Amino acid sequence: MRYISTRGLPTDSPRTFTEILLAGLAPDGGLYMPVEYPQVDEEMLARWAKIFREEGYAALAFEVMSLYIDDIPADDLRAMCDRAYSEANFGSVKVAPLTQLSDGVSLLHLSNGPTAAFKDMAMQMLGQLFEYVLAKTGRELNILGATSGDTGSSAEYAMLGKAGIRVFMLTPAGRMTPFQQAQMYGLDDPSIINVALDGVFDDCQDVVKAISADADFKERYSIGAVNSINWARLLAQVVYYVAAWIQASGTPRNKVSFSVPTGNFGDVLAGHVARSMGVPIDKLIVATNENNVLDEFFRTGVYRVRSSEQTFKTSSPSMDISKASNFERFVFDLVGRDQARVRELFVDELGANGEFSLAGTRELRDAKSRFGFLSGSSTHADRLDSIRTVYRQSRVMIDPHTADAWKVALDALRGGAVEHPLVVLETALPVKFAETIVEAIGVEPEVPERFASVMDAGRTVVDLPNDPEAVKNLIRSVVEG
Ligand SMILES: *Cc1c(COP(=O)(O)O)cnc(C)c1O
Repeated sequence: MRYISTRGLPTDSPRTFTEILLAGLAPDGGLYMPVEYPQVDEEMLARWAKIFREEGYAALAFEVMSLYIDDIPADDLRAMCDRAYSEANFGSVKVAPLTQLSDGVSLLHLSNGPTAAFKDMAMQMLGQLFEYVLAKTGRELNILGATSGDTGSSAEYAMLGKAGIRVFMLTPAGRMTPFQQAQMYGLDDPSIINVALDGVFDDCQDVVKAISADADFKERYSIGAVNSINWARLLAQVVYYVAAWIQASGTPRNKVSFSVPTGNFGDVLAGHVARSMGVPIDKLIVATNENNVLDEFFRTGVYRVRSSEQTFKTSSPSMDISKASNFERFVFDLVGRDQARVRELFVDELGANGEFSLAGTRELRDAKSRFGFLSGSSTHADRLDSIRTVYRQSRVMIDPHTADAWKVALDALRGGAVEHPLVVLETALPVKFAETIVEAIGVEPEVPERFASVMDAGRTVVDLPNDPEAVKNLIRSVVEG
């Protein structure tokens, strides 16, 4: 398998998986995509179902990912899948079990990993792949990131103890939930460096951008990232759509629909990839909160990014985004992989005007009919209502992000836009967002056994001013020892 950029300058030649693994954007500013989607047929799906049932998730992960990774020996890839998706990491060999909420609607549990959010599903595999490729090339990597909570902790727990990798994570001082702070700052390891920056999340991101723009510094200190545009992360997420289809479909040909809480369009894009491979998926429901950039696109054809001032701070904070960094990948497929058209939309129009429009085009109709997308959004009041309703009906607590997806799924079911079986993706455990759960049902979310002592751990964190130079100095002193 080779990978090409969504913008595809003619000078750019196709690359292998390990060549793009550590790269961020393609040199032309686009995102890497496989040159084609390997196709699966009924026979293969039946074989995968058997493998999943008999050997578990790690074995299925190997089957799916090896279709896209042909420059790592099979035995090595299999061993990495086994380590990433171990029972120890995710609490069961199934890794992503499914439970029924109501007739035909079920919940796919993706938050049983080390940090109680679905980002672990991809990040645990990324940790394995990074360590492997760095060791092969004798390189080191200093991951620099900014987080408002979930991504940072997931990256730290994935990279912890991996040879040749350090993580510098900028967090907005005092602005994460108590659980998130305890989880990250509780890590006391020389290769994990938490920074509490005197600022908000956007400031943290700006500092990362400023440092990444310094090419000499970046090169000298081997600065890298684990952001949501990484193809390997998306690929790892394709696996759970297959696992969910196996568990929900019942019969080999039965189609399953998914409702997905969406921020950067990573999670739902993985569903689009699975569907494009021939996994029998009917609808993919894009569920947003009040930050409805994507819902607006699917409703009107206008993709209009927001400024940070226009981005609402909501009770499903991991979906508070102003632009969806993976959306370009879907548009690439939507316009028939016409790279010149992608450049026109994302560089000429979006770059210049902050928006582009496909209103009234065949492409917009295709997004719904051919590609199966539906969308909707929800509010704080909807989230409280959803958390309450699901708790009353099924005694299951769902987190505010999952609640967004549940609400939009139910709207679609009632409106007849989608049929059973329908799977709602759970993206975090309620314990991470306890305040909203208490507001909804007056009950503190249960703290899973494995997090029982997380709040008691010590705190290891460096306080720094909102200044790229201060962060650079920290990196220099740590790397140079
Ligand atoms: C990251 C995140 C999302 C959004 O996922 P995308 O892949 O960015 O669309 C939703 N819910 C939670 C809890 C998250 O951490």
